[in-house]
Amino acid sequence: MKVFVVNAGSSSLKYQLLDMRTETVLATGLVERIGEAIGRVTHKRFPDTEAEEKTVFDEAVTDHKMAMHRVIDLITAPDTGVIAEKAEIDAIGHRVVQGGEVFNRSIIIDTAVKEAVRANNPLAPLHNPANLVGIEVAEALFNGTPNVAVFDTEFHQTMPARAFLYALPYRYYKELRIRRYGYHGTSHKYVAGQAARLMDRKPESTNLITVHLGNGCSMAAVAGGRCMDTSMGMTPLAGLMMGTRSGDIDPAIIAYIAHQQGLGVREIDDLLNKESGLKGICGANDMRDIHARADRGDDMARQALEMFAYRVKKYIGAYVAVLGRVDAVVFTAGIGENDDVIRAMICQDLDGLGIRLDEEKNRTRGGARPIHAADSRVALWVIPTNEELQIARDTVTAVSTSAPTG
Ligand code: AMP
Repeated sequence: MKVFVVNAGSSSLKYQLLDMRTETVLATGLVERIGEAIGRVTHKRFPDTEAEEKTVFDEAVTDHKMAMHRVIDLITAPDTGVIAEKAEIDAIGHRVVQGGEVFNRSIIIDTAVKEAVRANNPLAPLHNPANLVGIEVAEALFNGTPNVAVFDTEFHQTMPARAFLYALPYRYYKELRIRRYGYHGTSHKYVAGQAARLMDRKPESTNLITVHLGNGCSMAAVAGGRCMDTSMGMTPLAGLMMGTRSGDIDPAIIAYIAHQQGLGVREIDDLLNKESGLKGICGANDMRDIHARADRGDDMARQALEMFAYRVKKYIGAYVAVLGRVDAVVFTAGIGENDDVIRAMICQDLDGLGIRLDEEKNRTRGGARPIHAADSRVALWVIPTNEELQIARDTVTAVSTSAPTG
């Protein structure tokens, strides 16, 4: 079964074609700057183990339809392609950011599903409309091929009300659907599944803390394969300190800034999303730059690193309390997978929680690997995330188990 995974952003379209019999990637790529004067398409195919990358297009890509046409051309053309015709694709899996409370699993897309996704647009105004464009373009160009929506929020739908409700007047939940939804769900689900497999344990009896540290950062407390709590909230602004996002702050700060500086809510929203986090403290948001600065003696870069690690450590403590017993802490995404210094800072002095890092193992590089000391009660793992593969797996499941509803 061949699955085409689509992640449509407002001006971009990421894709991956996988052969799900072997779970191997056949081709992957990205169309960027859709709607701008000059667009760009980067395409890679994997004939064997060797990948060739090509930047193949350098003129305007006017809209997502044109972008999808280019991608179809690339994956079917003799010199760049991996299939003879698009009909070889058995299903298309779409990343959809916000599924609200309607979707707790991936689902074949029909008119009713699209309506429900559209109804969630106010909860994810930057993402859901773009995801819908991707869906509609695929429906038009892949006539009759099933399209499946895979939601960033669905893994977190198992959270109990005590974890997802905010202590606001209850009517704000009922009328405006204000609650914790959580994000990065496909990543947490993927690494949680892999962790249980790699530890040779049944997912139903494994308790995990999954730590996704990339440009966006989030954590999840996972009991027996089910998410019990997560650090992002109604939006992806909450929780950990991130590249440019503040994470948790005292909510009264917003009114204080508005009053002191005469800023409007939009400007404050921008401030919290784009000018805060690591960037707000030390002026850089890329972790590699921050380490380079800290190594040169930049005190604010050092401060940013300490704040970043401290916030993760605090959430680990909180999630140990949520779960009662923790079998493993799993690090993933750009920073979680690659940054041994941050991992060591996070795990420092956590002996009291049964968490002890092996410094040498922590410094190793490569794929999925344990990094805990022999006497650590809690296992520590680095597991590379693979959101596309999780979307493709969920697409296969949806196609083989669900029927369209409308
Ligand atoms: P992601 O959003 O998962 O692509 O992660 C992006 C973040 O990972 C950026 O802050 C990068 O600086 C960081 N990152 C990527 N590679 C490394 C590395 N080798 N060491 C430290 N941070 C890294």
